[in-house]
Amino acid sequence: MTSVIDLAVVRELRDIVGPAGCREDPADLEPFLTESRRLYRGVADLVLMPATTEEAAAIIGLCSRHGIAVVPQGGNTGLVGGAVARSTPEAPEIILSARRMADIRELDPDNYTITAEAGCVLADLQSAAAEADRFFPLSLASEGSCMLGGNLSTNAGGTNVLRFGTARELVLGLEVVLPDGRVFDGLRSLRKDNAGFDLKQLFIGAEGTLGFITAATCKLYPRPRGVATAVVALPDAAAAIALHSRARLALGDELIAFELMSRQALEFVLAYLPAAREPLARPAPWYLLLEIATARDQAGTEEELEDFLGDCLESGLVLDGVAARSEAQREAFWLLRHSISDAQKGGGASIKNDISVPVSRVAEFLGRATQQVTELVPGVRVVAFGHVGDGNIHFNLTQPPGMEAAAFVDLWDSLTGEVNAIAVDLGGSFSAEHGIGLLKVRELRRFRSGVELDLMRAIKQQLDPAGIMNPGKILGD
Ligand code: FAD
Ligand code: ZN
Repeated sequence: MTSVIDLAVVRELRDIVGPAGCREDPADLEPFLTESRRLYRGVADLVLMPATTEEAAAIIGLCSRHGIAVVPQGGNTGLVGGAVARSTPEAPEIILSARRMADIRELDPDNYTITAEAGCVLADLQSAAAEADRFFPLSLASEGSCMLGGNLSTNAGGTNVLRFGTARELVLGLEVVLPDGRVFDGLRSLRKDNAGFDLKQLFIGAEGTLGFITAATCKLYPRPRGVATAVVALPDAAAAIALHSRARLALGDELIAFELMSRQALEFVLAYLPAAREPLARPAPWYLLLEIATARDQAGTEEELEDFLGDCLESGLVLDGVAARSEAQREAFWLLRHSISDAQKGGGASIKNDISVPVSRVAEFLGRATQQVTELVPGVRVVAFGHVGDGNIHFNLTQPPGMEAAAFVDLWDSLTGEVNAIAVDLGGSFSAEHGIGLLKVRELRRFRSGVELDLMRAIKQQLDPAGIMNPGKILGD
């Protein structure tokens, strides 16, 4: 027993959701207490899984009256400890999981919208859209388990931001249970709606600190008929930026993904993922994975990408390139990109960064950051990859061979501090797409101005004066 919640209140909470919506046994609690990076270990005695907005509202209302904190959770794939409960006898916390709220309430093909509940798994949303000949563009490596409410609460990015924007840009309406248990019903499906402040935006990217998202209405797009994917080899990172500018001019809005991989990143994938194959004949310092999607048919699309790459080869901008000739080959290319984080584990302990800079300054960032970390830790392996078309690099670091793993992880704060300072110096951000959670609270205080922090605190104080929604996340204690 880690928390002291009055037994009568526990009984009332149980009654709201019934036995199917309640977890209390330590073995059943386990999946809700571990997180994907194993940086934190959650502590809680009670997980509640409401099946409806009314149940969620009743739970939060009751918690608010009894001073019990609520930690929202979706697929628990977040990377910054945002969904980690830290219950203590003095300050009890419960986990509020959206996983039983997984209905698609409405898909309106003519309005190009889908209204779904917070517990909908992202891949299921994508499939529902595809069945209606529509496209839901949010796409992340965790899409098989992350959920819409988590995606919106972290303002998730992923691989199609270049063309369709982050999660925020896909939302037209939102339904949220506020910290006092009232429901903000903003589930409108309008593309034009200038009626005062755009309140839904407050809750998107708020990591559960301002309320519990129960449902959202999101934009859909036409389902692409043709998709073409290629991997190209580059002599240096500057070529990636030049290629990005050129690809956008030549391919326009058809360019939907533009992902960078360093040779070191690919080497880890080739070494530790049995299914991985070298994409090109000769190794190169950098690789790009490009994808275009069009309303035309497949053959025309492949030709368009190949023509573009042919021009780039001729002018010497790229060293080599290969376009996918089948869906299996396309998947093989994406597997290389999506497996980097996992494969990196094979090389030992790692330290992760998630920075963004203006696209035009990515090469400068990579040069400066690589030099800095190599000076600090000779032999450190830089595993740089990411959504370079958005200026977002996961500048991950793997321990030097032979170094003690724990000694390397001890350098987390100093190394990420240096890397983040370089990004910020270049006009960038220390948190491009993963959020703040518990992991980057200190960085937020370091890099954001007093005025910005004051505004955030004022909003938090106004919406959640008792501080019951996800305490300690983003702004700290
Ligand atoms: P959770 O982890 O459960 O929660 C995340 C945060 O949102 C927490 O603060 C939680 O309290 C809050 N929250 C969850 N549900 C709600 C709700 N209903 N109401 C209010 N608050 C809520 N992220 C990217 O942006 N881009 C990527 O490319 C990307 N790739 C990833 C790849 C892998 C392999 C993994 C493991 C993660 C990746 N992530 C990525 C991070 C993560 O998947 C995303 O942040 C995702 O959006 C989190 O969704 P979730 O449902 O798992 O949320
Ligand atoms: Zn990413």
